[in-house]
Amino acid sequence: MIALLGLPFFRDIEEQEHVTMSDTLRPVGLPSFQQRIEREGIRLQRTRIDTVQLNLGRLCNQSCTHCHLEAGPHRTEIMSRAMAELAVDFVAATEARTVDITGGAPELNSSFRWLVERLVKEGRHVIDRCNLTALYEPGQQDTPNFLAEQGVEIVASMPCYTRENVDQQRGGGVFDKSIAALRRLNELGYGREGSGLVLNVVYNPIGAFLPPSQRQLEAEYKQELASRFAISFNQLLTMVNMPLGRFANRLKARHEYDTYWASLAAAFNPSTLDYLMCRNMVSVAWDGFIYDCDFNQAMGLRLRNGKPIRLGESPAKEVALHLVAQEILVGLHCYGCTADAGSSCQGALQYEKKGS
Ligand code: SF4
Ligand code: SF4
Repeated sequence: MIALLGLPFFRDIEEQEHVTMSDTLRPVGLPSFQQRIEREGIRLQRTRIDTVQLNLGRLCNQSCTHCHLEAGPHRTEIMSRAMAELAVDFVAATEARTVDITGGAPELNSSFRWLVERLVKEGRHVIDRCNLTALYEPGQQDTPNFLAEQGVEIVASMPCYTRENVDQQRGGGVFDKSIAALRRLNELGYGREGSGLVLNVVYNPIGAFLPPSQRQLEAEYKQELASRFAISFNQLLTMVNMPLGRFANRLKARHEYDTYWASLAAAFNPSTLDYLMCRNMVSVAWDGFIYDCDFNQAMGLRLRNGKPIRLGESPAKEVALHLVAQEILVGLHCYGCTADAGSSCQGALQYEKKGS
């Protein structure tokens, strides 16, 4: 069965990067990412699976301007309970210690709690990527308590500590609700020393520019959130905005699309390549298809050159084995992960190495 799964990877670089971008979206004059990393002597391969990222769907109570998945309240793509059960089987077949649950707003999926409980029972470290305002949606009143009881790590979106910037990117009223949610989480012990309840905060730029130094910004955030709102958290994670989905449309409308892509390519930093998140994780979509990462998911770049792997179609153990040592399907968007200090779902890639 493994041999059946092991179909050839793209050999033709032009063909490969051609399929990653439609004609209207391909930025002008960007060098091939594959060729760029080959110049560094790198061929990107997954070495192991430390993390399985589960995307529970595109349903979200927000419609942020930077969302690469174009999630929103009217999206109907949602992971079913049957698929969630297959996802649990898949996680059990891997050595992944961490399961990173994302969306949309994953808490809005009716299988969310079931999934968390199962994964925690199986001894996995669970992360909830929470937009904070979802905690105020109907039926979510006790979600913070549930997350605390299960020991779930929360990675919360908070692109700024000012109302103006947050509401501009994420919608009117989001800032006030986010502050209230962070306070509530603090009351439960999240982000408080010695509680064991981790609360990390995500910063992403509000416009077409790269994030500043993660360490410096973390100090600024900690100072501002503490002094203005008595809020504490563990770490700040800076992320680069991917010029895909809604953010791509916004850049196009502002005539910033090509210049933003060019700035990502110009900031290419080869020392990020060893730390790319796709080297040790896989991403499972709401419909069970497996991708190298959430961005490849947004691009529709399924594994194995358009011959996808879907949960339930092969035994979980065989799929898990096949994914290790598999070559990663790259495209121009990978410049977003390798720009400057690099970017991943765990923040800047050079953070620890530089100690900056
Ligand atoms: S960025 Fe997050 S919170 Fe905003 S619309 Fe997308 S999934 Fe929802
Ligand atoms: S977008 Fe980033 S994480 Fe995804 S395949 Fe490219 S380099 Fe890897």
